[in-house]
Amino acid sequence: TEQDDRRIADSTKLYMADLESAVHYTLRAEVSRFSHLEGERLDALIAYVSVLRKYFPARPYGTTLLKSIHSWLHDRAGKEVLYKDFENVLNNKDEAQNAVLSSSVNYVWCQGSHPNFRGFPCSLWTLFHFLTVQASEDTAAPPTEVLLGLRGYVKNFFGCRECAGHFESMAAESMNTVNTLDEAILWLWDRHNRVNKRLAGQPSEDPEFPKLPWPSKTLCPFCQVEDGGDELAWDIPNVLNFMKTHYSRQNLANDYLE
Ligand code: FAD
Repeated sequence: TEQDDRRIADSTKLYMADLESAVHYTLRAEVSRFSHLEGERLDALIAYVSVLRKYFPARPYGTTLLKSIHSWLHDRAGKEVLYKDFENVLNNKDEAQNAVLSSSVNYVWCQGSHPNFRGFPCSLWTLFHFLTVQASEDTAAPPTEVLLGLRGYVKNFFGCRECAGHFESMAAESMNTVNTLDEAILWLWDRHNRVNKRLAGQPSEDPEFPKLPWPSKTLCPFCQVEDGGDELAWDIPNVLNFMKTHYSRQNLANDYLE
């Protein structure tokens, strides 16, 4: 299986293979659990695909495909969509008959030390952070567009229902305090660290990837500051810069892409 070979991954890089795996898995494995899509769930899918279309740096045919998926869905807003019809649109191949949406998962940084660990949820966080950073480069982007797209996706489709419940309560509590694109990046960074803290030491933790406050001092020497006590304090402007560098297109590596 894909997980039999351990891959060499660099914690400072971002892997396109992980991002494409997340897109593939959301649209094919998670959305397909609903044979009929309508109402709030269809609206959530449209908003998620709209965010991908705007901010996901797909390879050329992938960009065309995301556009056509989005306009196909958009034309059906307010109606009922059958997943099998949506799947036909997803399966559209380019003129050279190359499949443009990857057809299986292919994790690199997100590969776990065992198939039970990491994988899809890791790639989903990676995709989400990446999208908040990409949107921040578009000054015309509405500040919460990406967060709302992700929130609706998690609420309606994320297969880990316990995770979805936790995420929705964090969103309901404070997502409305986000007023800028930079605050959107920091909101997701902070909430992800809260999740890491809650899950540290749980059986779901990959022993080779312990859940620690992120970024570590090794990754970003100036993000964590000593405040004299035991509490970890963050230098928020440095964290923001680090997020923008780490989750940038320039930091994408194409290793192991199929
Ligand atoms: P992940 O936490 O998946 O992180 C992936 C990568 O992101 C890390 O390796 C690191 O490179 C980077 N990263 C880490 N922290 C940050 C940060 N703060 N900001 C930016 N980048 C960071 N599991 C549960 O058991 N219960 C839950 O309630 C739960 N809720 C979840 C909610 C959401 C929305 C998602 C996407 C996942 C949730 N999960 C939950 C899964 C869990 O958070 C992990 O994704 C999973 O355990 C795999 O962990 P991981 O070690 O691969 O690292």
